[in-house]
Amino acid sequence: MTPVLEMRPPAAAPKGVLDVAGVGVGPFNLSIAALLDHVQGIEARFFEKKQKFAWHQGLMFPGSILQTSFLKDLVTPVLPTSPHSFTAFLVEKKRFYDFLSGRFTGVTRMEFNEYLQWVSGRLESLVFGEEASAVRLDGNRLRLEFAGGRTELTRNLIAGAGMMPFFPPCTAPHVGPDCFHAGTYLSHPRSFAGKRVAVIGGGQTGAEIVLDLLTRSEGAPAHVSWISNLARFSPLEEGGFVDQVFTPGYVSAYQTLNDDARRSEISGQKLASDGITPITVDTLFAEIYRRRHLMGENCISLLPGRNLEAMDRQNGSFLLRTRALPSGGDEFYNADIVILATGARPALPACLEPLRSRMDLDANGLPVLDASYRIQWDGPAGVSLFGLNLGLSSHGIVDPQMSLMAWRSAVIINALTGQDVFDVSAGPELVDWPKRLPDETPMTRAAS
Ligand SMILES: Cc1cc2nc3c(=O)[nH]c(=O)nc-3n(C[C@H](O)[C@H](O)[C@H](O)COP(=O)(O)OP(=O)(O)OC[C@H]3O[C@@H](n4cnc5c(N)ncnc54)[C@H](O)[C@@H]3O)c2cc1C
Repeated sequence: MTPVLEMRPPAAAPKGVLDVAGVGVGPFNLSIAALLDHVQGIEARFFEKKQKFAWHQGLMFPGSILQTSFLKDLVTPVLPTSPHSFTAFLVEKKRFYDFLSGRFTGVTRMEFNEYLQWVSGRLESLVFGEEASAVRLDGNRLRLEFAGGRTELTRNLIAGAGMMPFFPPCTAPHVGPDCFHAGTYLSHPRSFAGKRVAVIGGGQTGAEIVLDLLTRSEGAPAHVSWISNLARFSPLEEGGFVDQVFTPGYVSAYQTLNDDARRSEISGQKLASDGITPITVDTLFAEIYRRRHLMGENCISLLPGRNLEAMDRQNGSFLLRTRALPSGGDEFYNADIVILATGARPALPACLEPLRSRMDLDANGLPVLDASYRIQWDGPAGVSLFGLNLGLSSHGIVDPQMSLMAWRSAVIINALTGQDVFDVSAGPELVDWPKRLPDETPMTRAAS
């Protein structure tokens, strides 16, 4: 394998001290590990609590399609010659020609997971079955403590522990076998036979679960209520101009904006990443049409524009109170099972709690990141904490998804090594995104 850079000789770290440790091996840290495999002189280990790589298994429906191009894999956007690419996977699995013959508009999440697993089996820097329980400062090093009592010393750390499932506050007292987060939908098989099921959340996950409930050959529910606080069940915004949001150039323009403008960008671009994949919309709509008009079944209530406000247990089932948006009227629905397709929120991984008081935190209590994903804190010079899935505010709508995953990994590796190992500069942008120039006044922008 050709190294992509002439690295300085291995860092003069005392024996037994890692240059960098990663907490969690999801796609994001896996991408960093795959790119670091090309970088000499960096002692890295990535620790994952699961026994082997697995990507959102609880939602791995056989037909679910990746919302991102397979070319935006772990490595290709910054190192297309890497043997850890999706194309290399297809070639090694002897399915390259069949894959092309398929003329697929998208890759299934199942196949992308297989690719991710394949890469995870090729990297020596990954350690499975190790749960990081705490990170503490130990002189000018970080001490990573594991659930089993073992420790590792490292000079830098990359937090890649994923996001926290979000439970609407009124659901908290009821969470259990009959009220659960969508993330566990397939990992704990349940019977829905003859039950009234409420699915809360109108995004891709909610849509996939509703589709699964309506098309079950066995154990189909009696009725599904699909409740969403969005004004309608909206498809993902797609197309060349939308995809321009998922470019390094967009991120750098976004980073010039003030907090108010950033918030408005994030909400304005929401459907570019949170909408429902068009093929899921079409399949689901056709199924609902068939059941309602051809079979004469009242199998589903479509309830957008409603916020779940309250939930009570009554005679063994749930009574849900929703508030219609924007009229404010209350409505009530009964359900035997409530599935919370309510997404996940960024959160500081629990193991970093010992260092929280030393971090700059934003209004949401999340660490502030610089442009290189470094958590801003008052630790010693040369000891960096990097945050994955913590940069919605600092890097915009691209942060929680995989479109710029390899680019982000390259930015972090450049910061880690202090060298331009990878070219992460933005090319000439097609779209001139709104920016706030450092000394901008309305007149200077208009005149330029
Ligand atoms: C169902 C679903 C489908 C998605 N599809 C797409 C898509 O098509 N395109 C797209 O761009 N984005 C998609 N996303 C969004 C995003 O790409 C994924 O959420 C992605 O998995 C984020 O990767 P991650 O590495 O940050 O986190 P995760 O995948 O959540 O991985 C974090 C890992 O950290 C481990 N961990 C946590 N705490 C510890 C600890 N203390 N010690 C050790 N290990 C720990 C966890 O076990 C886990 O394996 C999807 C998200 C979901 C939920």
